[in-house]
Amino acid sequence: MQPRDLSAHVAYQAGRGIEEVARDLGVDPATLTKLASNENPHGPSPDAIEAIQDTAPGISSYPKAAHADLTAAIADRWDCDPAQVWLANGGDGALDYLARATLEPGDTVLVPNPGFAYYGMSARFHHGDVAEYDLSRPDFALDAETVLSQYDDERVVYLTSPHNPTGGTFSLDAVETIAAETDDDTLVVVDEAYGEYAETESARTLLDDRDDVAILRTFSKAYGLAGIRLGYAIVPEEWADAYARVNTPFAASELACRAGLAAMDDDEHVEKSVETAQWAREYMRDELDAPVFESEGNFVLVDVSDARGSEAAATVFEEAQREGLIVRDCTSFGLPGCVRVTCGTEEETREAVTVLNEVLSR
Ligand SMILES: *Cc1c(COP(=O)(O)O)cnc(C)c1O
Repeated sequence: MQPRDLSAHVAYQAGRGIEEVARDLGVDPATLTKLASNENPHGPSPDAIEAIQDTAPGISSYPKAAHADLTAAIADRWDCDPAQVWLANGGDGALDYLARATLEPGDTVLVPNPGFAYYGMSARFHHGDVAEYDLSRPDFALDAETVLSQYDDERVVYLTSPHNPTGGTFSLDAVETIAAETDDDTLVVVDEAYGEYAETESARTLLDDRDDVAILRTFSKAYGLAGIRLGYAIVPEEWADAYARVNTPFAASELACRAGLAAMDDDEHVEKSVETAQWAREYMRDELDAPVFESEGNFVLVDVSDARGSEAAATVFEEAQREGLIVRDCTSFGLPGCVRVTCGTEEETREAVTVLNEVLSR
């Protein structure tokens, strides 16, 4: 027998891992710099590591208190009811819960192009259809008009702010206009996976007066916990009951919850991470010999097409990799002329600029 018809489903393409690339090139992983997956170059908070070690002996039990404690801490941080916090296995897991809670078979969602692949994947898993709104060149501006002019009563509209892979943001006004102008039954999901790095205000305040906006947050980026898989959605008050009906039992693990709690208490680590990213994105904008889009995230999108032609991303990716630098080829985002470079430590970022400028000059 066969699984159901999955021909419309596309596999998620993650940035390449260090071990994988090291094996291919036959080099020591320690000689490679990976700036391909927007991970935190400072690693996790030392407090999170300690919490994981302290929790390890107890992991024969199902998580109970830890889940409630983390939910309470997040509710406190965002000044909302704990029932509005939907913890999940990564931000991606929270996207699944939102899809489960909204989509009837055949409902359509509206996703950005270029954009984060998982919105559409998650909708398809839940028997939804996917429509796209195109961000317009040359600057991929994120504004209400762009979304509304391509909106056709979809059930869910995804906004990514800061946007992956461009780094741009939707203003709070733009999000509010989109929520107000779309149908009452359209949920606007504001994905703030990179929110900590941004100057633009979170859409959280809109939930005080609206029941059609949800926000998505993750511990994978500024908190440096990508490997533990922890994220959450904040949903309208009216939706609170739905979580118990859609979540996978024990949605976030004991280790994840304890690590998350410890990471939330370590302000210094988050501040350092954000400051490094702010420095690095400006440095790359100033120093790279190719157009760099303005970014409020921990990465920049670089247009390498002038230097290296229309298949530029694949070429630059390959050549940089041979020099020990792994960046993200944005061909899979529909941008064959661009690469995305994660903000590294100061040393890694300087090295990335040196390598990329060398490659671009060929
Ligand atoms: C990284 C990311 C997420 C969430 O990732 P998780 O690791 O699943 O928490 C969500 N949206 C965007 C746009 C991202 O880049």
